[in-house]
Amino acid sequence: MLETLHRIVQEVNAAASLEQALAIIVSRVKQAMAVDVCSVYLTDETARKHVLMATDGLRPESVSMVKLDMGKGLISLVYESAEPINLENAPDHPRYQYIPETGEERYHGFLGVPIIHHRKMKGVLVVQLRGARRFADDEVSFLVTIAAQLSGAIAHAQASGEITQLEVSSQQSSQPFNGQPGSPGVAIGQAVVFYPAADVEAIPDRKIDDVEAEIELFKNAVKAARYDIQTLVERMHSVSTMEDTTLFDAYLLMLDSESFNGKVIAEIGQGNWAPGALRITVLEHIRFFNAMEDPYLRERAEDIRDLGRRILSHLHQTKDKTEFPAGTILVGEEITATMLAEIPPGQLAGVIAVRGSRTSHVAILARSLGIPAVLGVRDLPVNRLDGREVVVDGYTGRVYVSPARAIVSEFKRLARDEELLSAELKQLRDQPSVTPDGEAVPLLANMGLLADISSSLSFGAEGIGLYRTEFPFMARDRFPGEEEQYQVYRQILESFHPRPVTLRTLDVGGDKSLPYFPIHEDNPFLGWRGIRISLDHPEIFMVQIRAMLRASAGLANLSILLPMVTSVSEVDEALHIIRRAHHELMDSDKTIVMPRIGVMIEVPSALYQLPALARRVDFFSIGTNDLTQYLLAVDRNNDRVAELYDSLHPAVVSALNTMIATANQLDKPVSICGEMAGDPAAVILLLGMGIQSLSMTAASIAAVKWVVRSFTREQCAQIVNKVLALESPYAIRQLLNQALENAGLGGLVRAGR
Ligand code: PEP
Ligand code: MG
Repeated sequence: MLETLHRIVQEVNAAASLEQALAIIVSRVKQAMAVDVCSVYLTDETARKHVLMATDGLRPESVSMVKLDMGKGLISLVYESAEPINLENAPDHPRYQYIPETGEERYHGFLGVPIIHHRKMKGVLVVQLRGARRFADDEVSFLVTIAAQLSGAIAHAQASGEITQLEVSSQQSSQPFNGQPGSPGVAIGQAVVFYPAADVEAIPDRKIDDVEAEIELFKNAVKAARYDIQTLVERMHSVSTMEDTTLFDAYLLMLDSESFNGKVIAEIGQGNWAPGALRITVLEHIRFFNAMEDPYLRERAEDIRDLGRRILSHLHQTKDKTEFPAGTILVGEEITATMLAEIPPGQLAGVIAVRGSRTSHVAILARSLGIPAVLGVRDLPVNRLDGREVVVDGYTGRVYVSPARAIVSEFKRLARDEELLSAELKQLRDQPSVTPDGEAVPLLANMGLLADISSSLSFGAEGIGLYRTEFPFMARDRFPGEEEQYQVYRQILESFHPRPVTLRTLDVGGDKSLPYFPIHEDNPFLGWRGIRISLDHPEIFMVQIRAMLRASAGLANLSILLPMVTSVSEVDEALHIIRRAHHELMDSDKTIVMPRIGVMIEVPSALYQLPALARRVDFFSIGTNDLTQYLLAVDRNNDRVAELYDSLHPAVVSALNTMIATANQLDKPVSICGEMAGDPAAVILLLGMGIQSLSMTAASIAAVKWVVRSFTREQCAQIVNKVLALESPYAIRQLLNQALENAGLGGLVRAGR
C-alpha cells in the first residue's frame, strides 16, 4: 500500500493542472482499492454546493453538472463532521440520497473522507462499492492520506483562479493568497519569476509572439544537447560499462523521439516560451514513467529530468537574461538575499516567496531596503505568475494576482498615502528620539547584511546596536584573517565614532552556515551555534577578538556582544579570552581600552540567570528573534509553523516584562536588538516595560521614532498592564494597533496614511 501511495502522491505532485491531478487520483485510487467508484467533490461555500469535480465509475458527463446542496446527503455529512464516514450499506443511512444524474445503479459500500487544507474544509473524496461491505482500517487510512495530499493541490488551484467555476459569486481576482507579512508597505507591479537555472520544475510559463523563432531555439538546444551526449559517449566508450552507454543511447533516442519533441513544439505553438514548453513535456513524461509497474522503468523518470536540465542549460545560453522592468515584483519558491542583490536598484518594488517567514534573512534584507515583502505564501502557483500584475500587501501578508480594477485603484490610493507618510517620516530624521515626558530612548541600527554605513547614518541611527559579524565571514571562501577583519571593524567603528558600536562575535550555525565550514546536524538551532562554536575553536575566536580590539584603538566606542549564551560558564570563558587579548594588545598600544561586554538574552535559560550574568557583564541585549523561537518551540524559518511564531505571544510578552524589570532592578542597561524593536506596535509595549534603547533595521528608525515621540512612558505602562491580562497574540496585536490608530499613527501598521 505504501508503495502505491507513494507513486500516486508523486504523480499528483507532478500534475500540470488540478484537473489532471484529480483525474489521476480517481483512477489510481479506484484501481488500488479495487472499488467500483472513486470521486472527488469540491465545496463552493458561497453557492453552498458540493460540486462533483472528477470521477472514475460514475457517468463522466456528470462531472461539474452534479451539485449537491450543503446540509443534505452523505457527502455533506462527511463535510459537516470533518471525519471519515464508513458505511457497509449506504442506502440504510438516514442521510442517504439517490442521485440519478450520476449513474444508473445504487452503490452500497461507502467511504467518504474530508479534504482539509490548513484546517479548512475543501471537499470530500469518496469510494463506493456495488456490494455491501465496511471498509477495513488500512483502507480508511489510505484514503485519508490521499486526501491530505490532494488538499494542497486544491488550495493551490483555488487561489490561482483555476477552479473559478466553483466560485460562482466571487470574482477570481478578488481572492488573495495568504502568506506572512515579511516587510511592511504596499506595491503594485509586474511579477518576474526567478528560478534556479537548473531546476526544470520551477520554470514559469511566459508568453511569446514569435512561435517560429522559439521553435528554432528549441531545435538548436536539442542539437547542442545531442552533441554533448555524443561527445560524452565517445569519451566514455573506452572506460565505461555497457550499461552506462546504453543509458546515453536512450537519451539520444529520446532527443529524437516524436513524442518528446513534438509535444514541446506543440506547447510552443500554444504561445508558451521554449523553457515553459519543456517543463510541461518533461513533467508529463516523468508522470508517465512514474506510473509504470516496473521499478526499472520508473527510475527512467530521473533520466528524463536530467535530459530536461541539459536542454534547459542550452536554452538559457541563447535566451536573453531575465529582464526586470520598473516595478518588478520578484516572485519565487525561495528568494535569497543574493537574488535581491541581482535586481538593478530602483527596479524592485516588492518580493513574494513560497518559503520563508518574517524572521528569515530575506525579510530582514527587504525591510532594510524598504521594499514590501510577503513570504511563506505556500499556495502560490509560481509557474503561472510570470508577467502578471500583482499587488503585495506587506502589512497583512496578502498577495493579489491579476486583481480586479477596484482592488488596483484602492491599492494605488494606499500607495500614494504611503509615499506621503514616508515623506513625513523623513522629516523626523533630525528630531531627537525623546518621549513627550522628556525621556531619551536612543535608536540604533542593526547592520551586517548589507554593510551600508552611509544609509544607517542617513536614517538617523544613534549608533550600531548590533553588527552581525557572520556576514563578512559568509562572503569569503575561508575564515577571514585578523587583518581582514580589522579593516571591516575599523571602518565601522570610525564611521560611527563617537557613537557606540556593538560588534557581536561570530553567530554561525542554526540557519547561517559558512560554505567552508559546513555543519550537518539534525537540529541545527539546538546544536552547535554561536558562542558554542567560538569557545570550541578558541583560535578562531581569539583572532576575531583581537581584530575587534585593535580596530577600537583610540576610539573607545566598542562594545562586544556574545550570542547564544546558555550558561554563565560560557561568559566566564569568553571573558577570560577577551581579557587575555586585551592584556596582550595593551603592551603595544595603550589606546586600546577594555570594551563594554554584553550578552544576548535569547535562550530561555539566560532569562533565569540574569543576576549571575549581571555580575559578569556590562549590558544585556535581548534577541527576540531567537527568544521567541526557543520559548514557543517554533522554528523561525519554517513556513509550516510560521503562524505560530509571534513575538506578541503572551508568554514572550510576559518573559520580556520580567526580563526588563529585572535588568532595571539590577541596574544593568538593557536593549532589544531582535526584529521586534522595529515593530511600531511592539515598541509601545517595550517602552511601557522600561526598555532603555532599541536597535533595528535602519529603515524602521523613523517609524519607531514617531512612536517614541508620541507616547509617554506612563501611557505605555498603562497599555502594558492591559496587555498582560490578554491571552492571545491576536488580541495583543489588536490592542496595540488600536492604540497607534487612536494616536493618529495607524499608517505605521496598515496600508495608507
Ligand atoms: C535575535 O535572535 O533576535 C537576533 C537579533 O539575532 P539573529 O537574528 O542574528 O539571530
Ligand atoms: Mg539570535
